[in-house]
Amino acid sequence: MMLDTSTLRVALAVVTLTLLCLFYFITFRRTRSPFSGWWCSALLLFLTGSASYLWDGTVHQVWANPLGNTLLVGGAGAMWAGARSLRTSIPRLWSLTAGPFVTGVVSVFDHPATNDWSGGPVMLGMMALMLGLSCRELFLLDVDYSRVHRPLAYGSALLALFYLGRLTVFVIDGPHGPVFVTYFGSVVTTLLTTMILVLASFTMAELSNEQLTRDLRARATVDGLTGLLNRTAFVDLAENELRRLGNARTTASLVLADLDHFKAVNDQYGHAAGDVALQTFAAACTASVRSTDLVGRYGGEEFVLLLPGVSPERAGEMAATISRRLQEAQPNVEARLPTVSYGIASTGPGRVDLQALIASADAALYRAKTLGRDRSVLAASLREEQTA
Ligand code: GH3
Ligand code: MG
Ligand code: MG
Repeated sequence: MMLDTSTLRVALAVVTLTLLCLFYFITFRRTRSPFSGWWCSALLLFLTGSASYLWDGTVHQVWANPLGNTLLVGGAGAMWAGARSLRTSIPRLWSLTAGPFVTGVVSVFDHPATNDWSGGPVMLGMMALMLGLSCRELFLLDVDYSRVHRPLAYGSALLALFYLGRLTVFVIDGPHGPVFVTYFGSVVTTLLTTMILVLASFTMAELSNEQLTRDLRARATVDGLTGLLNRTAFVDLAENELRRLGNARTTASLVLADLDHFKAVNDQYGHAAGDVALQTFAAACTASVRSTDLVGRYGGEEFVLLLPGVSPERAGEMAATISRRLQEAQPNVEARLPTVSYGIASTGPGRVDLQALIASADAALYRAKTLGRDRSVLAASLREEQTA
């Protein structure tokens, strides 16, 4: 049975239009991510490009054929830009427009009125190139970037190789040779393209969802004002970390920090200036710790740090560094930056419970406040006081 090209093309057009509508209204409008925008453009260009070929065999072929070639190559270029936007910046405008432009110009000068394969080799070569570039971008992404981008990478590799095969056979055998017509003609191309468009749309929708979920998860763990971990996230991560350190018999220090007379800062300079002071303190903390340390906003103007492998004395030095950074900072609002009191507790043999650690750091913090603020107190010294 011979499949009829025009029927297949109409079917492909219906599928593409459906995908475009679904993708635009459901995925793009909700996420507005750059790659879903690029994918919408790609679908639109594929749709209009293949629709242009419907004029083949009429008087309109003279402009419709070059236009179809240009739009299809543009669609593959948009696919490349979309794949690239997942990893890095989008390609430069000239590298996106050069392919379609060259294809269009060559097609126009290749007797498009009578030659329904005008510009054929250039179009096939450009398609192979653009699809190959998309495939490269997808393979350059981390394997665990998502669960779905690898299948699309293989899909676009297949399509790129197919276009390379088309180009080769086209050059050797011509567009009307038996090999080209049977294996690389419009029927196989249309079927393969349909498959890839469905695969790519599914992948892009899934990627958008994963991105949305990641955003939501990030928002649920990060404190909106300071960008530090919120209390719940800190407790979660710190418990895991302490369990890990306990198994490895490594010590860790926990620091509770409370800004001094912070209420006075608010009262004197206003709540907004107070917010800036909180942000400045958070920045001083992140600038002073290592990337493996955990920093969280424990509540209003209280902060908490977990420093794995750090002795209490070293934690005291880090607290002094944070306070120095805070005083050196120049917030761009008029405000007095407050001093800070710290309570420091450390894990010891058989003492790895987070709540116990926080409780002794809190006791030390209270002591720092009563001793006159702007200092750090080690929980160990409290025990010495008790035994003394
Ligand atoms: P102390 O030295 O004993 O800690 O005195 P303090 O004034 O810092 O302590 P207190 O707990 O009485 O006051 C804390 C203040 O922190 C009260 C509250 O208005 C302010 N605060 C809590 N969260 C925020 C916030 O998100 N933004 C601002 N601007 N202020 C906050
Ligand atoms: Mg407080
Ligand atoms: Mg305070």
